[in-house]
Amino acid sequence: MLAHDLSVELAPDRHELKARDRIALKVPANRQHVSFLLNSALRVASVQSRTEAGPRPLAYVTEPARGAPVAPSPSPLPSPVATDGATGPGERAGVRGKATGPRREATGEGERLVTVDLNGEVTSGQIVTLEWSYEGTINDPPREPRHLRFVTPSETAGYIGGEGVYLSGETHWYPEVPGSLPTFRLTVTTPEDWQAVTHGKQIAREARSTAARGTVTAQWDVAAKTEALTLVANRFVVQHRDWRDPSGRTIEVAAYLFPEDASLAQEYLDASVRYLETYSKLLGSYPFPKFAVVENFFASGLGMPSFTLLGSGVIKRHYVQPYALGHEIVHSWFGNWLFNDAAEGNWVEGLTTYLANYYYDEFSGSEAQAREQRRMMVLGYAVYVRPEEDYPVAHFRQKVDQKDNAIGYQKAAMIFHMLRRDIGDGAFWSGLRRLVAERGGAYSTWRDVEEIFAAAAGRNLRWFFAQWVERPGAPILGIMEALDQDGGPRVRQGSDGFVLQFRVVQAGLAGEPYRLNLPVSVNMADGRTHRVLAKVESRDQALTLHLPSRPLSVTIDPDFDSFRRLAREQLPPMLNLFVTDQHRTLVLPGMGTEADQEPYRGLAGQILSREPAVVQVSDQEFASLDGSVLVLGGPGVNRAADRVAQACGGRVSLGRDRFAVEGKTYEGTDKALLITCRRPDRPGTVVTLFYGLAPPAAAKVARLLFFYGWQSYIVFHDGTVVARGDFASPKEEVEVRLAE
Ligand SMILES: [Zn+2]
Repeated sequence: MLAHDLSVELAPDRHELKARDRIALKVPANRQHVSFLLNSALRVASVQSRTEAGPRPLAYVTEPARGAPVAPSPSPLPSPVATDGATGPGERAGVRGKATGPRREATGEGERLVTVDLNGEVTSGQIVTLEWSYEGTINDPPREPRHLRFVTPSETAGYIGGEGVYLSGETHWYPEVPGSLPTFRLTVTTPEDWQAVTHGKQIAREARSTAARGTVTAQWDVAAKTEALTLVANRFVVQHRDWRDPSGRTIEVAAYLFPEDASLAQEYLDASVRYLETYSKLLGSYPFPKFAVVENFFASGLGMPSFTLLGSGVIKRHYVQPYALGHEIVHSWFGNWLFNDAAEGNWVEGLTTYLANYYYDEFSGSEAQAREQRRMMVLGYAVYVRPEEDYPVAHFRQKVDQKDNAIGYQKAAMIFHMLRRDIGDGAFWSGLRRLVAERGGAYSTWRDVEEIFAAAAGRNLRWFFAQWVERPGAPILGIMEALDQDGGPRVRQGSDGFVLQFRVVQAGLAGEPYRLNLPVSVNMADGRTHRVLAKVESRDQALTLHLPSRPLSVTIDPDFDSFRRLAREQLPPMLNLFVTDQHRTLVLPGMGTEADQEPYRGLAGQILSREPAVVQVSDQEFASLDGSVLVLGGPGVNRAADRVAQACGGRVSLGRDRFAVEGKTYEGTDKALLITCRRPDRPGTVVTLFYGLAPPAAAKVARLLFFYGWQSYIVFHDGTVVARGDFASPKEEVEVRLAE
């Protein structure tokens, strides 16, 4: 047991904090010393014990805490399962887990260990109250994010200043016992026009003014056990409303926004209530007394127990989608109420991604959108995870790059999808509610998750978790020719219909074959589709289907319900195949005026500065190039544009003042085209062309080009998408047409 009664006074203009912390602590067995972590910039004035006999000063020693375990920082915001890229906020990653930033090592800041000598005051198991007084400056101004694709949340180790206050688990702004989950009573004093926000609920607020200055003191009660307490403060406009949860409890839903964004509050409050309604019905009572959307003075997307801290840029972009605010709210249960020691494997992001980014669509009846989310999860893995770099979901801790996102968020989300299909909706949802009810306020591992679902399903699920969580990779599935030795289709007409026989193979398999409940769909001559779940247990599984009508084609997993690896040849051509190819070449324009070439040269500069491995060539060298190629500039600007038209074949025609894709012609100087086709002579590689019918049309898209990586063609009008689509993959291995 550990409880803080913490009072802090914040002086933003001087970057200062002054604090008194009364810590009630149960003394561990046979211990006369207790160690706390505290920011090195905070000077301890005294530590006293408070007993019935009155306060008594205690001795303490301090030492650098290098390598000591550090409390996790708040959970990062999710990666959207990007279908639209440019309209979303982009992926963000962060450190849920025990990590310190290398930057702080370099500045010599950070935390230190303060070990207090209890001096025989107490016996083991007794509760002692230690009263600390300390103060100092916290002044690590937030930096611009270092990565374009991934915004790490820990761009500051804590800041108190005129622009705002941000004190997090990484700041170590109160004495903490590593690994403990304390509760708090927090009293915060700020300048009078400021508002502080922290976990739990504000229970009192009182303004005080003297001739010299005005202050306001707010009291917060944090009853839920907390990994690391975050405190923020700013000149917020606060709007809130009461929401009654399904059990009749009143939860405060609040928005703390800067005055210029205060008009967005209703939108955030409405969306918050919508998600709270949905998820408290699915998962059980919301675990905290409030939920708040809080605007931050630096770029961030952070989820803390009972509030989310979003940078101004994000707030202004209406961050209310399921993959955004919805994801944050699901973290209220998983991540901020059920904890995950990342060192033991991170199951929290996969489950949160499944429930928010994916399941909200299914729940609200958007089946087409839900299918697209599943397809994107399978595609993301195929594009970003090279087989030789793959690792088991059990080893995922936090997202550093797209590969981690594809494994730890997307594959893990698909594992929960397959689990749900395997054990059924009833067992799945009751298992989740049971997980929340039994493991709230505690750390859980993948094994704990498995045990709860096995209990809910009433059967052993070891094989499932071993196969999907502990083993790297995924099956590559194909249908073997459904032909018999005579070359005829293996379809027999029976007395009451047709019998179709074919084989599902697991290609290039290392190790045991996967056990799958594989959806198989057969299109029949009468126009109907016959769907079955096929049990696949061997690497070459013979299947026999009885059909009411003559089969025309058979498709494995047409709706992406089973996680698998699509070979690069099975994917539609798209810019992301260029992005993830090991051999990439950029073909620069060599014709036209300087003004014609300008937007492409600018874009090439951006790409090369970020991706030094990309080779750059002139537009006369195309023919000899290996790997995937990105051609910048159209006919009349880049000679290689004609080569792209050849690769794309009849579905495309490219001109200086117009282009046509899939039978539709686009004209006008405000149009631009991004198109990707396979290189017929080099399997697995693609060629992409980007051009505008005039330089400004290209310039408008260029900066965000790589957000449009998932489709074969995209047509832009004045920078906005007006048409998009995929060119089917030439070799669709999982579909077999049967002769009549
Ligand atoms: Zn997340």
